[in-house]
Amino acid sequence: MTFKLEKYHQFRQQVDQLTDKLSTMHQKHLACKKGCDLCCMDYQVFPIEFHAMKQALKDQPVEMQESVDGSCIFLKDHACQIYEHRPIICRTHGLPLLFMNNDQWELSACELNFTGFDDEDFTPENTFPQDKFNSKLFLLNKEFLKESQLLHSEFDLIPIHKLKDDKLKDKLV
Ligand code: SF4
Repeated sequence: MTFKLEKYHQFRQQVDQLTDKLSTMHQKHLACKKGCDLCCMDYQVFPIEFHAMKQALKDQPVEMQESVDGSCIFLKDHACQIYEHRPIICRTHGLPLLFMNNDQWELSACELNFTGFDDEDFTPENTFPQDKFNSKLFLLNKEFLKESQLLHSEFDLIPIHKLKDDKLKDKLV
């Protein structure tokens, strides 16, 4: 495995910078708090993110839980055990996400947030441009697959719980 994860880590920092800014901007409309795990589930991620989590677990092993009814294996006592290394999708939890769906712009946010917020007040400046970041992640993953020569197509996604699967783990070493 020759691919360096620096570019992915830099990308993650860019996501964090924007989500921090949006969280501050929307502070009074966010019900997000420690102990709330409503957004947590067994997401599917690109191989580059799967590998980044696997690398992080080598340095900082955690006890993975069973995935029950789609729950995330890293959720324990309502807290994320790999918070610093969580994938991009988890870093945008709760914020207003702007994306294109069937040729129409759509906004999505946690049902507990923005309860007293007028939809008209959402703008490109106060929402997270999910498509833009997903495109960047797609290209980074493509580069990763090419360099690491893993047997995945660029459209493959892997459920997080597969990190418990020894066979798949070995393939990604
Ligand atoms: S990785 Fe962490 S933040 Fe993401 S779904 Fe799992 S427990 Fe939640």
